[in-house]
Amino acid sequence: MVAFRDPVRNVVGGPTAKEMTDRLGIATVEDLLRHYPRRYYERGELTDLARLVPGELATVQATIASVGGRQIRAKLHKLDVVITDGRTRMTVTFFNQRYREKLFVPGQEAFFAGKVEVYRNKLTLTNPEVALGDDAEDFAGGLMPVYPATAKLASWRLRKAVSVALEVALPEADQLDDPLPAELRLRRGLTGLDDALRKVHKPDTRDDVRRARDRLRYDEAFVLQTVLARRRAEATAQPATARVPRPGGLLDEFDARLPFTLTDGQQEVAAAVAADLAREHPMHRLLQGEVGSGKTVVALRAMLAVVDSGGQAALLAPTEVLAQQHHRSITAMLGPLAERGLLGGSDIGTRVALLTGSQATAARRTNLLDIVSGDAGIVIGTHALIQDTVDFQDLGLVVVDEQHRFGVEQRDALRNKAKVPPHLLVMTATPIPRTVAMTVFGDLDVSTLTELPAGRSPIASHVVPAGEKPHFLDRAWTRVREEVDNGHQVYVVCPRIGAGPEEEADDVPADAETTSALRPALAVLDVMPMLVEGPLAGLRVEMMHGRMPPDAKDDVMRRFAAGVVDVLVATTVVEVGVDVANATAMVVMDADRFGVSQLHQLRGRVGRGSAPGLCLLVTDSEAGTPARERLDAVAATQDGFELSRLDLETRREGDVLGASQSGRRSSLRLLSVLRDEAVIAEAREDAAALVAADPDLGKHPALRAAVEAVLADQRAEYLEKA
Ligand code: ADP
Ligand code: MG
Repeated sequence: MVAFRDPVRNVVGGPTAKEMTDRLGIATVEDLLRHYPRRYYERGELTDLARLVPGELATVQATIASVGGRQIRAKLHKLDVVITDGRTRMTVTFFNQRYREKLFVPGQEAFFAGKVEVYRNKLTLTNPEVALGDDAEDFAGGLMPVYPATAKLASWRLRKAVSVALEVALPEADQLDDPLPAELRLRRGLTGLDDALRKVHKPDTRDDVRRARDRLRYDEAFVLQTVLARRRAEATAQPATARVPRPGGLLDEFDARLPFTLTDGQQEVAAAVAADLAREHPMHRLLQGEVGSGKTVVALRAMLAVVDSGGQAALLAPTEVLAQQHHRSITAMLGPLAERGLLGGSDIGTRVALLTGSQATAARRTNLLDIVSGDAGIVIGTHALIQDTVDFQDLGLVVVDEQHRFGVEQRDALRNKAKVPPHLLVMTATPIPRTVAMTVFGDLDVSTLTELPAGRSPIASHVVPAGEKPHFLDRAWTRVREEVDNGHQVYVVCPRIGAGPEEEADDVPADAETTSALRPALAVLDVMPMLVEGPLAGLRVEMMHGRMPPDAKDDVMRRFAAGVVDVLVATTVVEVGVDVANATAMVVMDADRFGVSQLHQLRGRVGRGSAPGLCLLVTDSEAGTPARERLDAVAATQDGFELSRLDLETRREGDVLGASQSGRRSSLRLLSVLRDEAVIAEAREDAAALVAADPDLGKHPALRAAVEAVLADQRAEYLEKA
């Protein structure tokens, strides 16, 4: 008896096993059984060869009349098999499948499935799927599975291998250890594992296929959610210090000074965060929300609560510009509360330290001292925060801004700097659909800010088809002048820096087939002089990009924020979090070179104050192209969730799951994190209940084995990457 997890070579020959493993990732018998058919050919009644329709998929049952192969050229072998239904004859052709020559025996009956083509005025099938002999008998049952195959390993050979595996590895009905508890199967109306595996490979009806796939798809969601539920349970079982703000302390002072009232959404999330912080187990929360929905205030309040209780909070930002900006805006919001120990500073206040890679040694030393002594209650920084030399007095909370730029490892490295596991708050402004959140961030509790603070102005977005209507672009620059004349600032964003070897914006959609794709994308260094000498002459135009020294970037940003600079020509360094309330317009050059979510992020930089925002998406792409449709979609809605869904749909599943998902990809065959929302939600609920009742899965050995297989996969892939 061959076991499920035995190597696949126990059921197929050595070379076949090698091809399976190398090319299809099939290492075990189970992998083979989980190599599901891509589709199924349906057997018709005995096919009347005279009634085939060119261009249609057909399955033909016929008798082999004659077989003739010949080598046409050095690398081209042609095999013609003449088949007949008794009245009509037809030739079926195989290229470079010489081995079939001896498999076809005249007089034998066989099935052929493929697309009907016309060759020299006659109907034919080229390289069709074939079922012969025993296989044909099987197939006579109903549907013929077609497998993802390789050049060396045709679908029919996989079909045979699967047949063998089914026979030797699947015990008689209902003996197989099913990872899904019977109660759950019953409740969700799912068939058993052995039944599902048999039916997915050897269905009689379409309904069999559906039931089998439903069950197997559910498995994928359930095992993954069990992994996540256990991770969540383990993480929250760790000890942590409860952080409860002092009455009349820093947080109360801050709230009293806040120039606005929190939105209902902010209050709700703040309450959830406060409740998490008050527990003696670490918070693991994801805070997602539209650009400008006020996440930073919520995070700052959490940090102040921790400082109030004697701890420290660290804010990890993805770029120096952002770290600097957070430092500036948080210091400003705190006012005297951030000046403890300074003249005029509040004595219940604290200090806010900034730590970035480019800091001068002296400043860095002072900051490190403030951090280790605990004088700095709030520490803001980039990756530099993660370095070995940074020691905290009592790190109680880690806030990670813009999660998608940080790996789980980095977030963990910072958390390891605490003596007791700190609380964790992850903020992301790239809203992701609920199901993706449940999968990618499945070990975090998710809070979402959906409303924008009142008084926020809408952003009018327009596509400017510069290729078709050049005068539209002139009109755009006129609008820029008008904004500046009204005392506002404007961003002009380009995909490239220019004048040097460099990558384009990293998020370029694969299908960006645009006219502009024929030339390099517009660059800051080229657009800048073009504007200064042309349409924006006389305005105070400056630029900012990633190759400038951090100090210079900071300086430009500061002057732009202060209104000393009118127009900032920049790369996507302004993409995340940059917050200049007086900036009202943005012109994105070669907008088709950016991804949907990225454009949405960029656009979020304007309309942050009370004046209405304007976003102009300049493109050479033509109406009707996918690139142009994406831009139209961005212009048509400000709903980040809708746009992120659109964005994800244009990517492949593996990319959706991204690096944080490494390893899991291989465990998802039927499940789509975008389409199967209901399945994922159900599985998540079921997994949470099961893990709560049986945390170490002691009562569910088959599930435990499946979970361990996924974890082993993830570890393997992690090691490969490292
Ligand atoms: P996010 O980080 O979600 O993009 P921020 O926290 O940076 O958003 O907030 C954007 C701007 O809105 C900031 O200038 C902030 O001070 C302001 N803001 C935040 N919450 C409110 C509110 N409830 N009412 C008015 N303005 C707010
Ligand atoms: Mg922000």
